[in-house]
Amino acid sequence: MYFGKIDDGTVSVGSGLILAVLAFLEEQRLEPTPRNYAFAYDVMHDPAGPLAREVARRTDGGIRLTSSEVATLGAMIEAALPATPSPIVPRRLESVPPAVAAPVDPATAAAEALAVETRRQVAGFETMVSAMRNETRDFGRDLAASEDALRRSSPDGGAGLSIPELARITAAMRARVEVAEARLEQATREASDLRQQLAAAHDDARRDPLTTLPNRRAFEEALEARDGGPCHVAMCDVDHFKAVNDQHGHPVGDRVLKAIAGTLARECAGHLVARYGGEEFALLLGGIDADEAWMLLENARRAVGERRYRLRESDTLVHGITLSAGLVSILPGETPRDAIERADALLYAAKRQGRDRIVGEIS
Ligand code: GH3
Ligand code: MG
Ligand code: MG
Repeated sequence: MYFGKIDDGTVSVGSGLILAVLAFLEEQRLEPTPRNYAFAYDVMHDPAGPLAREVARRTDGGIRLTSSEVATLGAMIEAALPATPSPIVPRRLESVPPAVAAPVDPATAAAEALAVETRRQVAGFETMVSAMRNETRDFGRDLAASEDALRRSSPDGGAGLSIPELARITAAMRARVEVAEARLEQATREASDLRQQLAAAHDDARRDPLTTLPNRRAFEEALEARDGGPCHVAMCDVDHFKAVNDQHGHPVGDRVLKAIAGTLARECAGHLVARYGGEEFALLLGGIDADEAWMLLENARRAVGERRYRLRESDTLVHGITLSAGLVSILPGETPRDAIERADALLYAAKRQGRDRIVGEIS
């Protein structure tokens, strides 16, 4: 595409946009490919539009877009286009019909936002390191030129140094170093924030929000990662829990679940107690022999049954909270999945035998 001459001021109407497009490509160090022109055009054509705003957000503080970001954002534009776009109609993101947007799960959206932020920071670090490298190179060049000039101008071949010249170069370098240090400090702070957010996201993904116990994912990961010592798995299920919800309502059911979680965690302190799902809890009892595991689980089961669950609204008691459990010792070479399935089968045997009991296969 021919834009007209731009070096002698005889540019045509719309040259502001053309220049802005070229400046954007230059600034972002993008190859002048048709795809990149189209991308830059979309950004500069609608500076208040969603694409320009997203680009501004990602390039905040002088950070350059990575080629994968250009590809991702470019794909967004492509997705927003009608099937056969007219070549003369400017393409705009607003043409996306809001009704067709797929619903986004908040956890996925949060993870994606974190991933975008991580990519943005990594790109920021790359840009900063490259800027610092340029600074150092420029400083080296200045120093070499100055040294050269000193040698040529001084009768003793530069042995006597020009103090003002050295002071100027040093002051300039100090100023650059200060800027670089400030940027580095800010980047370090951002990286530390991001590390904390990632750690929190990692923890959130492995914790049950109602009881705050580790969840099924955390339990299965721990089971995979267990060491070679004696290890026992218990699958526990609250008996007739549906009746609690039916009689007292779901919020009371939630509070009872929390109380049961607390009792199990306290009774089995030092072992992994997880909410496996619904009204099911999974226990990983390690470093104790089979009889100790049985006793520990039996005490926990009794404690759940003996605890008073009182409704604070009416001061009445919720009766009949009991637990059934299947307990297995993990066999040599047995996979976690097989151990869980065996414990689950024994849990259902406990249900069939009348509930409020443990059925075990321990060794
Ligand atoms: P069983 O002794 O055979 O296990 O009987 P049950 O009633 O406990 O089993 P069932 O599978 O029929 O019902 C489980 C109930 O647990 C139904 C479900 O609403 C309830 N439940 C699961 N998760 C939660 C929760 O997070 N909060 C509340 N309040 N109830 C839950
Ligand atoms: Mg159940
Ligand atoms: Mg149940």
